[in-house]
Amino acid sequence: MPLFRVPFIVQSIYRNRQWRGNKKDCVYLTFDDGPEEKTTLWLLELLKKEDIKATFFCLGKQIESCPELFQEILNNGHAVGNHTYNHEKGSHTSSKKYINSIKKTDVLMNSTLFRPPYGRLTREQGKKVNMIGKKIIMWTWNAHDYDQNMNEETIIKKAALIKDGDILLFHNSLKSSKLMMACLPKVISIIKEKNLLFKTVA
Ligand SMILES: [Zn+2]
Repeated sequence: MPLFRVPFIVQSIYRNRQWRGNKKDCVYLTFDDGPEEKTTLWLLELLKKEDIKATFFCLGKQIESCPELFQEILNNGHAVGNHTYNHEKGSHTSSKKYINSIKKTDVLMNSTLFRPPYGRLTREQGKKVNMIGKKIIMWTWNAHDYDQNMNEETIIKKAALIKDGDILLFHNSLKSSKLMMACLPKVISIIKEKNLLFKTVA
């Protein structure tokens, strides 16, 4: 069974990365890899209905392929962050190429937030990302909605572990769409039952 909560020891090793939010009684919904033709509008509709503002970590190539959906995310008052241009994995990419991918995406958006694809980047890349003025945003609870062996019952059960300050990782990609759409409404209602509020990452 994959881990839903990121162990504290992992959080403490990488101190130049932000794992949690600091507002009291709040959690932070985040969606990676969008915008995406088949799911973004569904997601925006749900968030509007639930009166929730979230943070979308977008890929440059996706913004270029559906700019009107990226604009819709902004029009709905959500926060956006940089997730590289082409979903590069830090450990498999030179630092120069990695930073260039982030800069190429910066041309398409305005944000100081950065989330590394797969949560993977080298220490050197981490330092360089900080040097170009970005905060590295991780997560403390992972829905595993991209995992083909996962099921919605397990995700909903693990939502019981969500607590104050958590940054929650979901995906706005075609690959994750079935699980994300199946579990998100229920996960939101579990969080609301806990009397936690939803904020954007800042
Ligand atoms: Zn991603």
